[in-house]
Amino acid sequence: MTSAQLFVQSPNLRYGEKFIESDYEYENVRCRRDERTNTIQVQATRTAVTFRTQRTVPKFGLMLVGWGGNNGTTVTAAILANKHKLEWETKDRVIKANWFGSITQSSTILLGLDERGKDVYVPMKDMLPMVLPDDIVLDGWDISSMNMADAMGQAKVIDINLQKQLRPLMKDMQPRPAIYAPQFIAANQSDRADNVLRAKDKWEQVEQIRRDIREFKSKHSLDTVLILWTANTERFCEVIQGVHDTGENLIAAIKRNEEEISPSTLYAVASVLEKVTYINGSPQNTFVPGLIELAEKNETFIAGDDFKSGQTKFKSVLVDFLVSAGIKPCSIASYNHLGNNDGYNLSAPEQFRSKEISKSNVIDDMVESNSILYGQGLSKPDHCVVIKYLPHVGDSKRAMDEYESELMLGGKSTIIVHNTCEDSLLASPLILDLALLAELFSRVEFKIQGSEDSTFQTFNSVLSILSYLCKAPLVERGGRVVNALFRQKATIENMLRALLSLPPLNHLDLQFKCS
Ligand code: NAD
Repeated sequence: MTSAQLFVQSPNLRYGEKFIESDYEYENVRCRRDERTNTIQVQATRTAVTFRTQRTVPKFGLMLVGWGGNNGTTVTAAILANKHKLEWETKDRVIKANWFGSITQSSTILLGLDERGKDVYVPMKDMLPMVLPDDIVLDGWDISSMNMADAMGQAKVIDINLQKQLRPLMKDMQPRPAIYAPQFIAANQSDRADNVLRAKDKWEQVEQIRRDIREFKSKHSLDTVLILWTANTERFCEVIQGVHDTGENLIAAIKRNEEEISPSTLYAVASVLEKVTYINGSPQNTFVPGLIELAEKNETFIAGDDFKSGQTKFKSVLVDFLVSAGIKPCSIASYNHLGNNDGYNLSAPEQFRSKEISKSNVIDDMVESNSILYGQGLSKPDHCVVIKYLPHVGDSKRAMDEYESELMLGGKSTIIVHNTCEDSLLASPLILDLALLAELFSRVEFKIQGSEDSTFQTFNSVLSILSYLCKAPLVERGGRVVNALFRQKATIENMLRALLSLPPLNHLDLQFKCS
């Protein structure tokens, strides 16, 4: 299907040569609870904002940390398969390359109604100028020296007839030597570490990563580079005062070669110093307070943590449905088994602990939203997460969940879900979306009308707008974490609409009800 071009006709929208400029009324509600009188004062607020979005799409490079892993090879394969419009035969049928599972490429947004009262949808990618996946230039690092074609074979994710076509395109792609600190990932990963950056200390490692970024950028004449961590899950680092707490201390601690600074934080520091957006697709605490401060000072974007791909995505829909229906989930038991290298790494207790923490908090906002259900007695559901390594199932992860809920008058409802999900085929479209949306939102500026500061500024360094794609969303200081999936999706859709001066979708359909 060829996409229709979108033109918004509004006195509040200007299509300039450089920018799409939108005047937008941000309507909100502020509440004040008075415990003494047991009242809530509610006030409607309005703020006039002007947004502007740069129209020129940059020449864009994506550097993956853990490029040779299952996700890294799969997203590379997907970009190439789509770019070259590859088709391949399976025992069922001929498959054409596509981007199913990517919200930018394969989801649509409801724009409004046409003259016959029918809904009009457009692909998300057509709302505003976005990088085309076909144009992404790829590079990355891996502790394994295996070329990308062999690594794709090792991952056993891509259909063999597609692999045969991709091999010549991937065999000369070679991951750069990577920062390796064996104490942060499972000991069972040491066998693949034959492509390790030789540097005398941590600061020299940061300097080398910075040189890699600059070299990649200049080699391909790129305008923008983005770095995304899709390497093994690290153990949480112990956050230490004087080491991780401020930007200055963090840099000084790296220069002192402090032990407790993880490779992922070193890559992130290098990115921030190069003013390159950094996204964390794994659960570990890469974004220590000093790193966040450094990102703010350098006006660089960061986002994370941990791709929200299968079981968690479903959980954040099901629990939202139950709690918002007035049904009380009392226990949630989640069992997983998987047989890929991610599962192998997670079979070590400290790395599993990172994942367990990330997976455990994903229902908190929904539970807190309903004090009728959780006001007395059980304050939150019992929730346990188990992950086991079972080599035979490979990348085809099994997730089994049992939800037990309380119905009216002491009744019980038990929902059991079995989900077989090809892990890297779910995560790779998320990598694309994270990269494309982060790039787009880094081109957006705003100014509050009537405020003393009349200059345009960029969004906060922490891109919480990407929460839809993250299991444990990092949010701005003072911001709140939202896990409910459709609320997260609405945030992205309504922001894209705001950039075009369109109101958020309210689903009121008053034109029919009041006719
Ligand atoms: P993988 O084990 O196949 O790939 C990880 C790669 O990282 C390996 O090639 C490894 O050699 C490399 N690596 C390890 N440490 C490195 C370092 N310091 N620098 C550079 N490279 C390094 O794992 P995967 O299945 O591709 O998953 C990647 C990450 O994404 C994991 O942390 C996983 O928990 C996370 N994740 C995956 C999903 C999913 O659905 N696939 C969902 C959420 C999170």
